[in-house]
Amino acid sequence: MYEAIDIVTNELYGIDDWLKNCENRKEGLCRVCGEKIYIRADKSENTKTHFSHYRDSKCPTIEKNHRPFAHLNASELDLENGKIIKGKVAEHSFLIFEKCKGMAENLNAKEFRDLIDFATQKEVWNYKGLTFTYVPYILLTCREKFTKGERNYRKSDFYFVFDPNIKNVDELWNQSGKKQKLWKVDCKDNNVTEYSIDSALLPIWYEFTDEYIRNKFT
Ligand SMILES: [Zn+2]
Repeated sequence: MYEAIDIVTNELYGIDDWLKNCENRKEGLCRVCGEKIYIRADKSENTKTHFSHYRDSKCPTIEKNHRPFAHLNASELDLENGKIIKGKVAEHSFLIFEKCKGMAENLNAKEFRDLIDFATQKEVWNYKGLTFTYVPYILLTCREKFTKGERNYRKSDFYFVFDPNIKNVDELWNQSGKKQKLWKVDCKDNNVTEYSIDSALLPIWYEFTDEYIRNKFT
């Protein structure tokens, strides 16, 4: 992991800025699990200085702690809402695919169909109170990991996790205080990429063009 929250300033720093700004502090907090992590400067030339969890950590960014699908439960189901969500998914499936692909590089259509099938098997659509906003993020957690494959389709394997403090995924929208984030964990170097859960379906790079055309025609 290459970022940590500084306890003194409460800022998130990448390792290089940390070394410049955080004096001699050797410990920060993991932004995923909130546990303490420490600076580790391995002698090996291949390993960059990074932050590491302590040995007894339960953080899901450590692959052996990752429990895929354990969160895919709901306290209650709502079949009526499920119908509405499924209708929207069917209507906007390509944009959902594109949004997922923006986080899971080189996501292919077959993988996307597998995500949909797995979510269907888990009855995700019927989780009470589910809104369309959460759909792409939940889908990305419907696969143990995305592998680079034999042809090095991706640079490395990765997987996605939600706030480790949630037991069932519906706590994200039913309980306050749960981090509205999804993290991608790179299996090779444990690098973590953070995504905020938002309702936008258009990629950021297209928003200007979308608005440009709307303003012209409406
Ligand atoms: Zn952690």
